[in-house]
Amino acid sequence: MYSKEIYSTLIDLCKIPSVSLDHDYENKAAQLIYCKFAERKYFKKNPDQLKLVQIEGDLIHRNFVFAVIKAEENIRETVIFTGHFDVVEADGPLKDFIFDPERYTEEIVKTELTGGARIDADSGNWLFGRGVADMKSGIAAALGYGYRLADEALKVPVNVSFIFVPDEENDSRGMLGAMALLERFESEMSLNFIACVNTEPSVAPVLGGETAPSIYLGSIGKINPFMYVMGKRMHLGEYYKGVSAALISSYLNLNIEGNLELADVSGGTTYLPVGCHVIKNIAQKYGASIADRVFILYGYLPAKKYPDQIIEELTDLAEKSLKQCFVHIDRIQHKYIKNEDDIAVYDPKVILFSELQSMYTAKFGDASEKKINSVLAAQDEDSDGRSRALEIVTEMVDSLSIQGPCIIVGYMFPCYPFIENREDNKNDISIRQIAYDLVEYGRKKYGRNIKIHEFFEGASDLSYCGLRGRAKKYSAYFDNVPGWGRLYEWPVSDMEKFDFPVINIGPLGRDIHKYTERVDLEYAVSILPDFLDFVVKGICHRILGSEKN
Ligand SMILES: [Zn+2]
Repeated sequence: MYSKEIYSTLIDLCKIPSVSLDHDYENKAAQLIYCKFAERKYFKKNPDQLKLVQIEGDLIHRNFVFAVIKAEENIRETVIFTGHFDVVEADGPLKDFIFDPERYTEEIVKTELTGGARIDADSGNWLFGRGVADMKSGIAAALGYGYRLADEALKVPVNVSFIFVPDEENDSRGMLGAMALLERFESEMSLNFIACVNTEPSVAPVLGGETAPSIYLGSIGKINPFMYVMGKRMHLGEYYKGVSAALISSYLNLNIEGNLELADVSGGTTYLPVGCHVIKNIAQKYGASIADRVFILYGYLPAKKYPDQIIEELTDLAEKSLKQCFVHIDRIQHKYIKNEDDIAVYDPKVILFSELQSMYTAKFGDASEKKINSVLAAQDEDSDGRSRALEIVTEMVDSLSIQGPCIIVGYMFPCYPFIENREDNKNDISIRQIAYDLVEYGRKKYGRNIKIHEFFEGASDLSYCGLRGRAKKYSAYFDNVPGWGRLYEWPVSDMEKFDFPVINIGPLGRDIHKYTERVDLEYAVSILPDFLDFVVKGICHRILGSEKN
């Protein structure tokens, strides 16, 4: 009965095209989850344990769902299940059907598919569609587990809570909003959070190979460094009389993107190198001038490195790039300028955004805040936060009359701090042991070979489940984000306080974010809910030391 119900919950959720930032549909997905819980026995008796909560400070007024099912015993200890109900946008040749997984699966089988997608489509075991893997089946499985608890078909000696959020595929404002309220929920509802279980799908392993059912004991970080590159303006007809920001950017990008030496290493695994998300002429228009301001936004997945180290490494590479670029520019000048006295001598600089901000505050004092506010007030609130933050940098550069050539190095948002399983923490060790136990259980009961990974390698909301006293390690991030506190911020003191182990055990998905996104249906609706029960019971046994298992 429950697997049928989980299946229909999955289909109902997928039919809501809750693409991140499409707030009406994100809210409809939240509403659907809320209603599905509201009709269960436990929540009819305890309506105050189920909440649809508006995210504080969210410009587009989105909601998340918070629910708690209390154990019969009067205890505070509470396990959290979490997940995101937003998805990435539709794509592919059949995108009109992508939010209707049954129809979409029927149609996609008839199209030309290659490799694993063809094999999976022909097997009949996989459901295709947007969000089927990432991560509406994970939510459906957790909800299904919640239905059993709420119907009193299953009892566990621990409170079980659910936090389902929007915006994970964008800036994770859902989870950040939830974290800001978690402490309040703890005290108002007499809870004490002891572990967090996420149900993101298994992702393709960083070291290659086919995606296998996986357990993740942590979540890799994600940080977005930026470079604001300023050259010296010139006309194409006087190419030797200025500095192309595009030329500087080319050296920069060759030194940074895909640089294997920058890739983070942890536990013998080399994680992925830096990739470039955006590289653009800030003016974004054609003219006879050579590009004199370029914005580059990178993405990086740290497993061990903190923002201070990353920015230092990037600053060194920015300096190296400038040196290389100016050898090139020197050659150009000597080729075209006959008179040695006319050869320009440049003094290119690398400036941290935090330094730029201090210069700005030093020059404008109390007026600096007003000036930034008026920049923000003139912007369209719906526009991308990173573009708005970029205009803050431009305002500072222009008001301070900063001259190129120079590179301003800083960070954009979002940022996901890495969260790892610690070898010296009792509860982390217990969660690791539960993962080992689950591998055994999965093999014996279902013949499934489950792999354990240290990190969920695709960045997830688990990142925000606790800074564990390491907020200071992120000050180099907070200090270098244009618009920190205005356009983006973390509930730092809340995140700092929470310190519990996390685990991700989700459905088996493939090709997430692609039009061939699919999920192993049997695993998602029948096996995974049983695994979630196993994990909760494991937590009771190993972390709470409960006798009742
Ligand atoms: Zn996801």
